[in-house]
Amino acid sequence: MKTAIITSKSSLNHNTGSGHPESISRVTSILETLKKNKKLIWKNPVSFDKDIIKQAHSSNYVDTVESAFPEKGLVYLDGDTVVSPGSKDATFDAVGSIVAAIDGVENKEFKNAFCSVRPPGHHSNQNKAAGFCILNNVAIGAQYLLRKYKYKKIAIIDFDVHHGNGTQDIFYENENVLFISTHQYPYYPGTGSENEKGKFNNIFNIPLPAGTNSNEYLNAFEFALKRLKEFKPEFVLISAGFDGHIADPLAQLKLNTEDFYIITKRILEVSKKFCNGKVVSILEGGYDLQALADSTKRHVDALLEFN
Ligand SMILES: [Zn+2]
Repeated sequence: MKTAIITSKSSLNHNTGSGHPESISRVTSILETLKKNKKLIWKNPVSFDKDIIKQAHSSNYVDTVESAFPEKGLVYLDGDTVVSPGSKDATFDAVGSIVAAIDGVENKEFKNAFCSVRPPGHHSNQNKAAGFCILNNVAIGAQYLLRKYKYKKIAIIDFDVHHGNGTQDIFYENENVLFISTHQYPYYPGTGSENEKGKFNNIFNIPLPAGTNSNEYLNAFEFALKRLKEFKPEFVLISAGFDGHIADPLAQLKLNTEDFYIITKRILEVSKKFCNGKVVSILEGGYDLQALADSTKRHVDALLEFN
């Protein structure tokens, strides 16, 4: 069975200004590397009903976002979240990519998928943009699975080095979604302690100190897998951030490129057992261009091999 890469040229028009770490080159460097793999299927985002977004974000916030994109220049939505004229299509296509990925898996067009898009989403909650994120793509994907496909157990695994606080907020009181996050802690955005468990014990945070190495991380990740097995997911979404890599300039975990292959493989083994390997992954962080491209390649290699 095949793995699809969902991407869109609009990702390359989301200009965040010179010197911003969440740059256009991130997606360019990933695509250059993935294009060498001839086994992948390439797909574009699909258009979707805007009401899908409102399952994860308030109507007011969606209106605010829609009117925020400038006709020229840059506008700051928060201290480090910037939009340009090209950001509107990129933002909505990032959502359209996870919708396309989910539909493709459900229609058995491909086995699993990785969405190579930007802006990322996991810091954005019901009512605000934050940390380079505007709409919470993965959260919208989970809501789409619950509404359109009537699932009752969606797992989101977030291995970005930062806590996925926006995703946690959106699902804090939703028993149909298990959110598992590994992240450097204490660190930006400040949340993600073990004590944040969700109303239905549906939030599972694994905070890790700065300097955590591969072995320590992989040992901790076993607890994430154990929790995933107990939940028996019907579909697994991955917030794939590669900024836990030792070369990443924005954080201090010490993961190697190969670790992203190993954790993806382990997630897929569990997914295969409980939900026939239905997995959709979407890009979050990762700011060293070489480490990002290499780690994404190994993530996608595992998606291809173990589906
Ligand atoms: Zn991050």
